[in-house]
Order: sequence, then C-alpha cells, then structure tokens
Amino acid sequence: MTAYDNDIWVYLESADGAVSNVSYEILGKARELAGELDTGVTAVLVGAGDDLDGLAEAAIARGADGVVQIEHDLLDVYRPETYVDAVEEALREGDPAMFLSPATNDGIGLAGRLAVRLHAGLNADVVRLEVDDDGSLVGGVPAFAGGILAMVKAKGRPQMSTVRPGVFTALEPDDSREGDLAVREPDLSADDILTEVLDREVGETVDLPGADVVVCAGRGFDGDLELARELTEALDATLGVTRPLCDEGLVSRERQIGSTGYSLQADVAICAGISGSVYFTSGLDDVDTVIAVNTDPEEPIFDHADYCIEGDLFEVLPPLIEQLEAEGVISA
Ligand SMILES: Cc1cc2nc3c(=O)[nH]c(=O)nc-3n(C[C@H](O)[C@H](O)[C@H](O)COP(=O)(O)OP(=O)(O)OC[C@H]3O[C@@H](n4cnc5c(N)ncnc54)[C@H](O)[C@@H]3O)c2cc1C
Repeated sequence: MTAYDNDIWVYLESADGAVSNVSYEILGKARELAGELDTGVTAVLVGAGDDLDGLAEAAIARGADGVVQIEHDLLDVYRPETYVDAVEEALREGDPAMFLSPATNDGIGLAGRLAVRLHAGLNADVVRLEVDDDGSLVGGVPAFAGGILAMVKAKGRPQMSTVRPGVFTALEPDDSREGDLAVREPDLSADDILTEVLDREVGETVDLPGADVVVCAGRGFDGDLELARELTEALDATLGVTRPLCDEGLVSRERQIGSTGYSLQADVAICAGISGSVYFTSGLDDVDTVIAVNTDPEEPIFDHADYCIEGDLFEVLPPLIEQLEAEGVISA
C-alpha cells in the first residue's frame, strides 16, 4: 500500500509550519469512517520544503495512514493558481473515493475549484459525516438556520466535502503509528503565479469550539464589553459574541457564535444580553449547561437555557464576579 491507495483523502491546511486544528479534527473523523469502510486515510500536505518539516509525522500520529506531501518553493503560501493545480494532479493520480477539506477561506476556495476541475460533487460546510450502506459518503448540511440538517450525498468521484471547524474531535497524537510518505514536486513556474503576497497579517486566533467555558455577549451590552471581558477573565473563559457585535466591528469574526460562526462544545456558556435567534442558538446545541441573563423573560434564549436569570446584566454580572472572588473561585 502507498499513500495513493487509500480511499479517503484529507487536505491538511498549514501555515508557518503548523497544521490548523480543524484539519486534525477532520483527520480524526476520517479515521473513524475509514474503520467502517475498511480503508485507509491519506493526508495531503502542501507547502514549501522547510515549512513542512515534521508535519507528515504529525499527521500520521493524528490518524493518517499515508501522506501525500506536495512541495515546491512556489507553494509557500496558499494561492489558488498553484495549489489547485498541485492538488488536482495528485488527486488524478490517487483517484480516492472521498476528499475532505476544512471549511475555511482557503479550504473552501481549494475544494470548490477542485470540484469544478474534477466534475465532482461537493457538499459544502458539513457538520456531520457518515457512510451509507453502499459505502458512499453522506454529509449533514445545516439549512434554515440550523432548523433542519439536510443529509446530502455528493455524486462523482471523489465525493467531496468541506467540513465546518469545531464539529469533530481531533485524535490525541499516537507517535507509535506508522505510515507511508509520498513526496511530489509539481512542475510550477513563477509564470503560473498571478498574485503577489505583499504582506501577511495573522489576526486574532481564538479557539471557540475548544473552549470549556464561554462568556457569550450580545447587543444587550450596548456596545460596551468591559463587563463581559471582566467576567471572561475572571472565569478564565473565552469570549464569544453574537453576529451584530462582529458586524459593528466591536469584536473579530473569530469570536462569532452561531450558524454563520462557530459552534460551541463547552461545558458552560453564559449568554448575557442575547435574544436567542435560531441563527445564534444553533451554535449552542453541544453545550452542556447554558446560563442566560436577559431583562425580558419572553426572549427565546430562555428556552435554550438550563438556568435563566431575569435581570439587567449590568446589575447581575458585577455581584456575580464579586461572589466568585469572595468564594475564592477567582482572585480579586
Ligand atoms: C442568514 C443569517 C445568518 C445569521 N447568523 C448569525 C450567527 O451565526 N450568529 C448570530 O449571533 N446571529 C446571526 N444572525 C443574526 C441573528 O438573526 C440575530 O439578529 C442576532 O443573533 C441577534 O443578536 P443579539 O441577540 O445580540 O441582539 P438582539 O436580538 O438585539 O438581542 C439583544 C437582547 O439583549 C437583551 N437586553 C438588552 N439590554 C439588556 C440588559 N441591560 N441586560 C440584559 N439583557 C438585555 C434584550 O432583551 C434582547 O433580548 C444571522 C442572521 C441571518 C439573517
């Protein structure tokens, strides 16, 4: 068996020598599906030589049986014009049954273009993956603001899906695992490049799906998030917000919860000043305990909460923080 022989291929998105969490999450899920199908998983790594050091071993430790590593100096950053050619060539050679990619900006761009090139069906932004009786890949796509989950089977070969971050769990690395490495050096020339990357700014990185405790803030804060940040810090939690706060530029998109943001898998989410639109609450489905604070007891957020506090957040939260301090849960 070589890395080309496995039926499930997963594109591992990497930058600056590190693979994104969502890539490992997908790899973990692919490992499970491969077990059901009695096949193997191949990780696809793309980049410039040195940036890929150690990533193939890490991919194997995280569940890959083989790695197709595509390297070239001109693959130093994601550019559609080089990455799509390079991955397409590898896919044509390996002809896998399934190809999974993160539903991130670059992952979506890559998968969409590959689907067109390969005339393959692409299931976008799935939150569930399973195989049916005939071994086909079926993906769950939320529709109507998460009100329904449409189970969609993509046609063609490979069956392709982009997968939403935070819905699957990455495997713990197992360094005893072994796998096959196939290195490819595509024939690229500087003339292939239509874009020049002048600068690369890494924005705020927040792991909302991985957070245990999340303070969720909404428009009820009236644009002043100081109290939300104070509570977040006090609880050693992560701050998440509703979409309007991102739209208004108060907080980066990385912190948006909901159907067009991130889904939480937290133990506890404290939702203050949030009405509870389905677009938001679809991101709470996997939270163990939801605590809601709202002045209006009729708001739908209370239907999703385990503990409902009717009151003004500017009055409810300060004594809560004081109480936590008094009980030594947090330091003053
Ligand atoms: C296609 C589409 C996708 C969307 N995707 C998302 C998404 O992913 N995530 C998302 O969040 N939204 C999303 N939205 C927007 C969504 O529909 C809601 O508009 C948004 O979630 C509302 O945010 P909010 O609860 O902060 O604000 P509001 O709905 O304005 O609610 C504010 C709440 O604060 C309460 N409040 C006010 N003052 C206080 C106070 N002092 N103390 C306590 N409570 C107070 C009010 O009673 C009210 O319930 C989407 C919309 C569309 C159309």
